[in-house]
Formats: sequence, structure tokens, C-alpha cells
Amino acid sequence: MPLLRPAAHPRRAVLARRGWLLPLGLALLLALLGWGGHLLYQERERRYQHVIENGLSAINQVQVRSVTQWRQRRLGEAEALSDDAVLALAVARWQAEPTAEREARLRERLRGLVEYMQYAGAYLVDTQGTLLLASQGAPGGSLPESERRALAQALAQAQAITNGLQRNERFVFPYYGMLAPLFDGERPVGAIWLVMDARTTLYPLLEAWPGGSRTTAESLLARREGDEVVFLSPLRTHEEAALRQRLSLASADEGGDAMALAARGARGTLYANDYRGHPVLATVSAVPASDWLLVSKIDRAEAFADASRGGWLSLTVYVSLSLVLAGALALWWQWRAWRRERALKERLERNMHWLESAQRAASLGYFAYDAGQRRFAMSAMANAIFGLPPQAQMTLRQWIGLLHPDDREAMLNAHGQAMSERSALLVQYRIRPHGGLPLRWVEVRGEFSGPGDARAPASRMAGTVQDITERRQAEEQLERYRAALEAQVRIDTLTRLANRLALDERVALEWARAQRGGAPLALLMIDVDRFKAFNDTYGHGAGDRCLQAVAQALADGVQRAGDMVARYGGEEFAVLLAGADERDALAVAERLRMAVRALAIEHAPAGRDAGIVTISVGVASVRPAAQGAGAQELFERADAALYHAKRSGRDRSVVYGPQCAHLLHDPPDSLRAEL
Ligand code: GH3
Ligand code: MG
Ligand code: MG
Repeated sequence: MPLLRPAAHPRRAVLARRGWLLPLGLALLLALLGWGGHLLYQERERRYQHVIENGLSAINQVQVRSVTQWRQRRLGEAEALSDDAVLALAVARWQAEPTAEREARLRERLRGLVEYMQYAGAYLVDTQGTLLLASQGAPGGSLPESERRALAQALAQAQAITNGLQRNERFVFPYYGMLAPLFDGERPVGAIWLVMDARTTLYPLLEAWPGGSRTTAESLLARREGDEVVFLSPLRTHEEAALRQRLSLASADEGGDAMALAARGARGTLYANDYRGHPVLATVSAVPASDWLLVSKIDRAEAFADASRGGWLSLTVYVSLSLVLAGALALWWQWRAWRRERALKERLERNMHWLESAQRAASLGYFAYDAGQRRFAMSAMANAIFGLPPQAQMTLRQWIGLLHPDDREAMLNAHGQAMSERSALLVQYRIRPHGGLPLRWVEVRGEFSGPGDARAPASRMAGTVQDITERRQAEEQLERYRAALEAQVRIDTLTRLANRLALDERVALEWARAQRGGAPLALLMIDVDRFKAFNDTYGHGAGDRCLQAVAQALADGVQRAGDMVARYGGEEFAVLLAGADERDALAVAERLRMAVRALAIEHAPAGRDAGIVTISVGVASVRPAAQGAGAQELFERADAALYHAKRSGRDRSVVYGPQCAHLLHDPPDSLRAEL
């Protein structure tokens, strides 16, 4: 039904199906974006890692170089002292003859070294390692054990050597010691012991970190001693660690310690832990021409903080983008749903409007009946038909009250039967609508629904109710017309008696009945005597009036309900008498003849007769045999009797009998003309 359900536009239907493609595409785009972002992030992270590693490595290299240069420069200074022949000669002379002046000059030289070359101490020692002179005062004592070994080596090699970093109770600081042997010609005269404060000379070289904001970055010097690593520089967390803190090499395996790994030969970039157990990125290098290892390290958390910040940033951007996209998608979806709902609503309203108009135009409403609630839900039009307000819900009791009393029982039965049998309902009945409205005819069509069990009585009925009052009225009117017309066809217009058609039908009917019942059936054939002459004398109008008077007299003379008086044609009449035998029929015939005579209509040409209008009557009565001839016999006999009556002098009734038999099928022409 296009009014209620307009067919979806095919293109729109396709679009509606394609509606799924957009969110799918968006989801794919999002996934692609995520994947791309992830790849980019990974690539970026790798690059960033390289940059960090290279940066750390560069710092390490710079520091190694500066430490190496520092060592070379210092050794160079010591070698220069060794090569100073004047100094060696002065020492030799002072040893040979220790005057105060010579001693003062030597002290001056030593002080010069301390003051100008930034040594913490400079001492003159003899070849046995006994301290002879210091820049200030008499030192007393001798070289520490390791220094003494170095001295022996330096004298043996005739070359300045370094004893590396040491700690000794003589100094409060870790120091870097060198021994510069002095030779007077070929003869060793002693050596200069140069002591440098590592805190002010060496360690600052390790503190040169670019980008000062770093907090966990540090470089450490260390060297291996047997199964241990000795820290040569202070730790960030422990100022006094230099030459005091030691670490077992086994901690390389246990804690993945960067120092231990370095001491076991690892070089370059390491991802390991430091002495605190923190994960660090470290670069390890060996300081050339020494047993020193220089480890530059930084906490991984700090080193990659920027990278992870970048990661977080890109993740945040991605998540925000996804959220925005998802939000847009949801909005779009919502908007679509809202639009679809609005369109549906509009369509529904339009359809309802159409439906209402259609209902009004057809006086047709619809309803749904709930057997459980005994209540009707009805459209406005249906309510209007029952004379109820538009939103009313008619109860069963109300409905019964509205039914016309004559239709009530039949309708209740019809509804009950349809409910129990679940058959379709189509009934017409009368109602007396609410509000004193005139009687209405309604036609109700119903279909039943309810629980699935087809054998159970239906619990719901839905259908239409139509006001068919006008239709019914038109039908009734038509029926009246039809009946009138029917009657008209069977009535003779002049006399208002039944005509021949009506007579034939009635005779056939009564004949069949008499056949069944075995009763007699009588027929009177009546003819007005000498009527031709009447017409000729008084005119046709008078003739007609005469016929009307005779007809009336005949009709009045027959009282029994089953009898029929008919105009057979012209001035001939027939009277059908059901159940009458010859005697009865003759009696009626005579009565009728007398009744006509009693009219006393003047008929002068009748001449020798009474001078009034008279009739002749042929009487026949037959008891129809079950298998006998038709009603024709009755007519023929009555006719024959009538002929006989005419021949016998008119104005009489003759019962069919043997005397008439010869007139039955072949009346003489003379008689035929007379009649
Ligand atoms: P009989 O006694 O032998 O019957 O003589 P009759 O003159 O009546 O003879 P017949 O039956 O032959 O005449 C019938 C006449 O009745 C002929 C016709 O002029 C007249 N007639 C038939 N029908 C009507 C009618 O409707 N109106 C008038 N005015 N005259 C009629
Ligand atoms: Mg006649
Ligand atoms: Mg006649």
C-alpha cells in the first residue's frame, strides 16, 4: 500500500548501504595513521639513539684526548727537568758541598716549579729515594714504596716516568706523581719528584660536559688491579672515592656493571648499569700510554628523556587525532540518525494525514480490539462513527450498549464465533451512536491475531469499521423500487387486478402445490356478454369504466386469501380458486355473476336480456395427478365451459362436463366468432 509505506528510493537504498563504508574507511585510515605513526616513531627513536650514542662517544673521545695531552704535557715537563744539565750540576755540587747558598738556589728552583708550573709539590730525592729538599723546609722521610720502584725504573731508563695516580698519607688529595732523574754526565745524582693535585689538574678535564643541564652525566677514570677495578676519580655521589672505591670484576656478570665490563675489555658504547645499579648508557675508552680507562656515562632515563617525551607527544597527538576523528564520526552518525528519524517522522505524519483523509472520504475507520482488556483502540474516524471523542477507547460494555437491540444477539454470536474459530469477520449491523445521533448502519471487517496456538481463541482483533448508512438507505430505496416495479409488471393498469403474467405464475405455483397435496384446483373463465356492442353504443371510455366496475365486483366477490382474480385479456377475467372442487367453484361463479348483475350497468343493446351488463362463466376444477398434464388442461376446460355458457344463451355459469367435451380442443368457428 503505497500510502502507508512509500517504496524506498533505489538510489537512497544504495546510499544507505554505502553508509557503512565511510566509518569503515575512517577506521582504516585511523589504523593506517597509527601504523605510520608507530613506524615513524620507531625510526625517530633509532635515529635519536644514534645521536645520543654518538654524542656521548664524542664527549668521551674529547676527554680521552685532553687527558692524554695533559699526561704528555706533564711528562714533557718532567723530561725537560731531566734534561736540565745545569740543574743536575747544581744538585751534584750541593751534594758534594752543601752550602746554604747552593741549597737556597735549589729550593728557589723547586719553588719555581710549584709556583709557576702548578705542582702541588716538588722534591729533590737522592737515588735511594730519600727526600732531600722541598720547595719549602726540609721534607724528611723518603719516597713511598711505589714511588721508590718508579725511581729505580726512571734511573735505569735514564728517563722521566710517571707513577700515575696515587694516594699517600703525606697528601690529603689524590696526586699524580712523576719522577725526573738527574744525571751529572753519566752519574745519577738523584731525581725531582713532581706531585700534582689531581683535584685541580686532572679531574676538571673530566668535568667538561657540553650541555650543562645534564644531571646524571659523568666521566670516570679507573684502572684494573688484579680482580678488581679501582676508581681513579671522584664519583658524583662520593667525592672521596678516588683510589678508595673498588669493585670486583665479577659484578660485570652479576649487575652488568659498566666499569667491570670496561675492565674486562669492553670498549665503545655499552648499555649497562653503573655503580649505583642504575641503567646507563656508557662509552668506554682506554687512555693511550696508560692503564687508565675513561668511562663516560649518563642515566638512560635522562639520555632518552627527550626521545620518550617525543614519543609521548606523538602518542598524544595520535590519540587526540583519533578522538577528534571518533568524535566527528559519532557526530556524523548521530546527525544521520537524526535526519533519518526526522524524515521518517515527516513521512509518517504525511501518511497519517493521508490515511485520515482517506478514512474521512470513505467513512472508514480502523480499530484493534484487545480481548484481555475488553477494550477497543480506534482511529479518530472510527470514534466519530460511534459518536465518541477522537481519542476515546471504547469498552466492550460500551460497544454492546451501542448495538441496536434487534442486532445485538446476532452480533455477539458472530463476534464470539469468529473469535473462537479465528475466522475472518464481515458483518453489518445497526448502532445507536452516542450523543443522540440518528441510527447508523456499519460494516465491520475483522482479522484475528493473538497467541501462536491456532486452536486457542484469538485474543486480538484488528479491522475496519465503515459507516454504510447511506449505502444501506440507497439499497433499501432500490429494493422498494424493484419490488414496486415487480408488482407493476404483474398488475393490469386499467383494472388494478393481477394481469396474465401474475395469473400464470400463480397457477403454476398452485398447480404444483395441489399436485403435492392432492387437493383440487378450480379456474373460472369469465367473459362480459356482448361487450363489443356496449363499446359501440356507449363509447370506449364507458367500456373502460364498465370493465373497472366489473373488475371491482369480481375482486370484492372473492374473499379467500389463496384465491386470485386476474384480467385475462380484453373483457375476459379469470379467477383461480385453490382447493375448490366443481361445486365450490360453481358457487363462487354464481356469486360473481350475481355481483356483476347487481352493478346494474345499463346495456340497452343486450336487447332481449335484462338490459344490463352480464357475464358468462366457464367453471373447471381439476385434481392434478402426480404425473399428469400441466395446468393447460384447466384453462382448456374452463374455456370450453365458457363457450358452452355463451352458446347456451349467456349470463350463466357452466361447469365443465361431458356436454362441453366437444368444445374442448376444437370449438366451432361460429362460436369462436361469438366469443
Ligand atoms: P359475447 O357476448 O359473445 O362475448 O359478445 P361480445 O361483443 O362481448 O363479443 P367479444 O367477446 O368478441 O367482444 C369483445 C369486445 O370487447 C371487443 C372489444 O371492442 C371489447 N373490448 C375488449 N377489450 C376492451 C377494453 O379494454 N375496453 C373497451 N372499452 N372495450 C374492450
Ligand atoms: Mg364478450
Ligand atoms: Mg370476449
